[in-house]
Amino acid sequence: MRRAVIAGNWKMFKTVKEAVALVSELKKSLTEADDREIIVAPPFTSLFPLSKEIKGSVIKLSAQDCFWEKEGAYTGQVSPLMLKDAGCSHVIIGHSERRQYFAETDETVNRKARASLDAGLIPIMCIGEMLEEREEGETFAVLETQLQGGMQDIPVKETEGFIIAYEPVWAIGTGKTATPEQAEEVHAFIRGRLEKAYSRTVAQGIRILYGGSVKPENIDALMAKPDIDGALVGGASLKADSFSRICQFIRAC
Ligand code: PEP
Repeated sequence: MRRAVIAGNWKMFKTVKEAVALVSELKKSLTEADDREIIVAPPFTSLFPLSKEIKGSVIKLSAQDCFWEKEGAYTGQVSPLMLKDAGCSHVIIGHSERRQYFAETDETVNRKARASLDAGLIPIMCIGEMLEEREEGETFAVLETQLQGGMQDIPVKETEGFIIAYEPVWAIGTGKTATPEQAEEVHAFIRGRLEKAYSRTVAQGIRILYGGSVKPENIDALMAKPDIDGALVGGASLKADSFSRICQFIRAC
């Protein structure tokens, strides 16, 4: 059985003081559980302070992006090595907001994924179709391209721990969640493609998270689906009570 992952993407919210306060609140309600991993992804400025705050807790730390070079004259960029050094274990790559507003492409996503793995970070690679693409019946073709491009030249041995987040763009921050059935259909498709590209064993090991307006009200139904291994949560991860309820999702027997 795959270990579930609930990751909170804080986007460009929270000062250091606010970030520390949120994590200290979360620590009170989250306890070790073998069947799930909890991750928070604050802005860069809060990574190092939070690396101290999460010590001894179940919470792990992720960055929201990275650059692919180790170091150099790249003003404004942060390398995977620096993120590791700041206390991160994970890094989100290819979020649709980065694809949309910062010209992220499958090629840059792939460079970032490979550089992150080289630095010992686990990538949480986001893929997802836009509303027009879904309406045109292009969902699977779009996802296949993003998946292939993002995982290009990633060898089998590097896929252990790799996380994919399926985030339909039309469901991010809109309040419109994909139904558990819609999400499951896509997750099963992604797993099938991973099996084709690697093997059944690899495909069965990779965690595929759903992201897009996940809330306390819909997490249990989503997690009841066999190929949904967790959630990447935006808005609802900014408050301790809602994120903590999502982390404590109840699995249907
Ligand atoms: C996200 O930012 O990855 C996300 C899924 O946001 P929201 O949960 O707010 O839709």
